[in-house]
Amino acid sequence: MNTVVNHTNWMQALHDQGVWREHEPMARHTTLAVGGPARWFFRPADRNALIAAIKACPADVVILPLGRGSNMLIPDTGFDGFVIDLSDLDEISFGHCNVRAGSGARMSRVARQCAEHGLTGCEFMATVPGDIGGGIAMNAGCFSQQVSDSLHRIEVVLRDGNIIEIEHADLKMVYRHTELPTGSLVLSATFTLQPDSPEQIRERMRSMRSRRSSTQPLAQPNCGSVFKNPDGDHAARLIEAAGLKGFRIGGAQISDQHANFIINTGEASSADIVALIRRAQAAVKQHSNIELETEVRMIGEWEYILTGDGNG
Ligand SMILES: Cc1cc2nc3c(=O)[nH]c(=O)nc-3n(C[C@H](O)[C@H](O)[C@H](O)COP(=O)(O)OP(=O)(O)OC[C@H]3O[C@@H](n4cnc5c(N)ncnc54)[C@H](O)[C@@H]3O)c2cc1C
Repeated sequence: MNTVVNHTNWMQALHDQGVWREHEPMARHTTLAVGGPARWFFRPADRNALIAAIKACPADVVILPLGRGSNMLIPDTGFDGFVIDLSDLDEISFGHCNVRAGSGARMSRVARQCAEHGLTGCEFMATVPGDIGGGIAMNAGCFSQQVSDSLHRIEVVLRDGNIIEIEHADLKMVYRHTELPTGSLVLSATFTLQPDSPEQIRERMRSMRSRRSSTQPLAQPNCGSVFKNPDGDHAARLIEAAGLKGFRIGGAQISDQHANFIINTGEASSADIVALIRRAQAAVKQHSNIELETEVRMIGEWEYILTGDGNG
């Protein structure tokens, strides 16, 4: 946890441009409610403050973009870098059959506003608890829809502070992963949508919400699906077949409602959760000879992160 950086007041120049903290507990910012302190933490008030922060940040400090922390696992020892919380960059605007949303706009809010405007294509976002920036980085999806289906273009800020636009056709987006330029942060995204009746759009969103609440353990801290589904199968089925449904290590438990969810029963550490992840991977390998890959982004010490690439 010793970053060798001469950080002489680099953050103080920005103190009036957003919320600044040092040693900020990341358990406050992740839906699993675990994770030690971030060395530096900043929530820029607007995009100028964001760009100023990126330019001020010394080149050897790793930057980690943060949305709602709904797909992040941070070690108990914390994150020895600069977390930038983009949640205040949350403007949403509409054009003819398109919506442009800032990286910090909640996907559920975007979905609701699209319904009000009679535009279909974002309904699935109503049930994903992340922001647009996190949704782009993860290529989030459910109910047979994903972010890449309706994405038109994104705007990103590079590690040197320059802003560029990238068309969907020039982005490599696969199942639960988008290749962004190294060290970049998504600033906004534009989606192309189709006209439809607001009532029918709302009805589809209601149905998705109710399917989700009847099958997933939403009352306890979690990060959604922990593992990617392997081709032609489901991680939940494989974990259950390996006999681990309900299995517990410390305060972390494989949900007995949905075996691809790990819940924090109240006093879990990140180490408990990682031990459970490794245990599930070993059991599924032994039982079905399949290697489960994590969907949750494991940030920091337990995975080597290249300087300047905060995407885990
Ligand atoms: C109850 C529950 C249900 C869920 N259901 C689903 C589901 O159905 N489908 C699904 O796909 N996911 C699901 N998830 C996981 C999660 O909500 C999504 O992956 C979501 O897209 C993450 O968004 P976030 O803003 O929380 O990202 P974070 O968790 O904050 O970040 C995730 C990754 O994206 C990077 N990132 C975040 N913002 C930016 C940015 N602006 N620029 C560049 N990189 C960025 C982070 O550095 C990190 O590597 C679920 C999670 C929960 C808790």
